[in-house]
Amino acid sequence: MFRALQLHQIEDQSTRAAVTELSPDAFPENEVQVRIDWSTLNYKDALAITGKGAIVRHFPMVPGIDLAGVVAHSCSPDWSPGDRVLVNGWGIGERHWGGLAQMAGLKSQWLTPLPEPLSARQAMSIGTAGYTAMLSLMALERHGLTPDQGEVLVTGASGGVGTFATMLLARHGYRVIAATGRTEEQDYLKALGAAGIIHRDELSGQGRPLGRARWAGVIDSVGSHTLANACAHTHEDGVVAACGLAQGMDFPATVAPFILRGITLSGINSVTRPQIERGTAWSRLARELNIDLLETTTREVSLSGAIEAADELLAGRIRGRLVVNVN
Ligand code: NDP
Repeated sequence: MFRALQLHQIEDQSTRAAVTELSPDAFPENEVQVRIDWSTLNYKDALAITGKGAIVRHFPMVPGIDLAGVVAHSCSPDWSPGDRVLVNGWGIGERHWGGLAQMAGLKSQWLTPLPEPLSARQAMSIGTAGYTAMLSLMALERHGLTPDQGEVLVTGASGGVGTFATMLLARHGYRVIAATGRTEEQDYLKALGAAGIIHRDELSGQGRPLGRARWAGVIDSVGSHTLANACAHTHEDGVVAACGLAQGMDFPATVAPFILRGITLSGINSVTRPQIERGTAWSRLARELNIDLLETTTREVSLSGAIEAADELLAGRIRGRLVVNVN
């Protein structure tokens, strides 16, 4: 038996979350069994646990889009007991039982080797948020962005993705301008490497189709007017990586920045990236992140503590990352 956070839908269509005991015999997928050491709480997990977003495709569900641990049992020639692994996305915590548990039954192709020298806890403190920030940085680089081209905007900067986007861009010598609603977090954002801070209200209202060209690049985890305004203020041939929707899923923009400035909007989907790209992203994260700095952005909660923390996360009261000690 193992402990898991499990979600049930009750009669009024709301979601009930509770820690419960399950048997591995109940795993819907079972090619590889992983003993989970650490998981994490992402925005998507908070939506699933609270039932405030249509994340879970069927109930009962074990939430958690990330996990890190050790292979306990494998029917696949690709993995052996004792292998250190992590999983991000692939629909775990949405369509398949996820990481907020002590065990997971998984398909072999979902597993990524845990890169040295990261521990399972460090990998989960990076989690989908850090991996998505790295995919976003890789997209900016693929489109030719270099630090000498000018300032790079990071939106939702105090959140999970924004924290890592700020750290990674600064590490590569970019001049990062962090947009946040939490201006009291200025010192924190500067410690991560932000060169300047703007209030998110400057970006979150209806703006003009085209404004003063300010950004050479953007990593946006907010969407809606914020993304539209970020595009409208991006330089000629600049690039904007769009990875989130914390303000909204809409995109109230015009084609002006695309046809008059030739900017590129690059969409980031972390869930179904091929293993080759995941491997590159994770080995870069292991090499390029300052692990001591990472520790300062991380708070730890228990499996049952994740239920309470989900509300806090959606209310924008969590700075940086939450790791979940499932044991
Ligand atoms: P967090 O909740 O940790 O961070 C989101 C941040 O966005 C907040 O901290 C806040 O930053 C800002 N924000 C929140 N509400 C608003 C608002 N109404 N207007 C403007 N800014 C707002 O979430 P994550 O960083 O984990 O995820 C961010 C987004 O990215 C989510 O939408 C998530 O679903 C998406 N995502 C997408 C992935 C993909 O594969 N494309 C993968 C991972 C995440 P501040 O307090 O600094 O203002």
